[in-house]
Amino acid sequence: MTIYLDHNATTPLDQQVLAAMMPYLRLHHGNSSSVHRAGRVARSAIDQARIQVAALVNVSPAQVVFTSGGTEANNLALQGMRRLARGRTLAISAIEHASVLQTARSLQADGVNVRSIDVDAQGRVVAESLQAGVRTDTALVSVMMANNETGTVQDMVLVAEQARQMGAILHTDAVQVAGKVAIDFAATGAQLMSLSAHKLNGPKGVGALIIDRAVEIEPLLRGGGQEAGLRSGTENVAGIVGFGAAAELAAAGLKFGYESSLRVLRDRLESGLATLPGVTVFGRYAERLPNTVLFGVAGYDGEALVLALNEAGIAVSSGSACDSHSGRAPSHVLLAMGVDEEMARSAIRVSLGRGNTTQDVEQLIAVLAQQTSGFLSRSLGSWA
Ligand code: PLP
Repeated sequence: MTIYLDHNATTPLDQQVLAAMMPYLRLHHGNSSSVHRAGRVARSAIDQARIQVAALVNVSPAQVVFTSGGTEANNLALQGMRRLARGRTLAISAIEHASVLQTARSLQADGVNVRSIDVDAQGRVVAESLQAGVRTDTALVSVMMANNETGTVQDMVLVAEQARQMGAILHTDAVQVAGKVAIDFAATGAQLMSLSAHKLNGPKGVGALIIDRAVEIEPLLRGGGQEAGLRSGTENVAGIVGFGAAAELAAAGLKFGYESSLRVLRDRLESGLATLPGVTVFGRYAERLPNTVLFGVAGYDGEALVLALNEAGIAVSSGSACDSHSGRAPSHVLLAMGVDEEMARSAIRVSLGRGNTTQDVEQLIAVLAQQTSGFLSRSLGSWA
């Protein structure tokens, strides 16, 4: 059986979530826009899910716009501000997910000026760069709440204050935070926030953009006017129901200490890594997600180690699975943190989740110790 330690890529579907979804796949086929009974059943299931997702981030249900996932939520947040941003500036951090970076790039071609905000060696936004990047000409700022590769959590108060002073709208990608750490939307100071169900044991292909009522945003998809006109298209009812159930379970988990149980496992993992030669944990001095450790082993190729671990029945990642199409390019996140290319290529990401145990972590350390046991003789050899 595989030891699955790649929860930032995606999580297994929870059995209770599947059970909640099944009736909407098998029985209730109604279109929520229809006025008949079958339609009303679908409508009330979506309403219920909206309440559950809203509760996870402490907003009112009307602030939740369901999308096809985190990628679409990020696209909607940025492209939905296209008109406001034209001739003005969009400021994004250098370590954003590809769905923000690439969207920003496409807006640039449309006459939006894009500024990048630097991060320090730990992956935290640099205050001076934030001040230089977010000015009175800035329409929108996008800074992720936590990074998918390093797990580094941003100081949202700092970011929100700068955005507020300059009169800019703030978007935050909270895809990796939801379900791992409690989120209060208003406390982040953001007006737009992206979420994705499959990162919290929900189904793939469904997410949400949380929107402050005062913000006017334009839809990406036009048509039947679903989701208050912000996301037309017949709703993915079963997916949305699954997202709602997953959000409720995640909220309950957080109430019962899920975050600290992840932290205990993560600390166990890091003390094991500290016994191995040549290991550097990236962002280790920053506040990080309780489940994420990105580390490099000097002199080793991350991809090769990931494959060796796979052979030993352990699933980890050599970076971001969501960015895996970029091939062998070293992570833009690590490069932005000033990590050199060779060390960046040695990166391995372990992301813990529900069901992981101390034994899983110990097994990983044992296999890593075996795989990297040549380190000492190699480095001694290079001195000789
Ligand atoms: N944002 C972050 C930080 C992510 O890690 C991911 C991962 O996939 C996404 C956005 C995209 O979400 P989705 O897979 O739901 O499109």
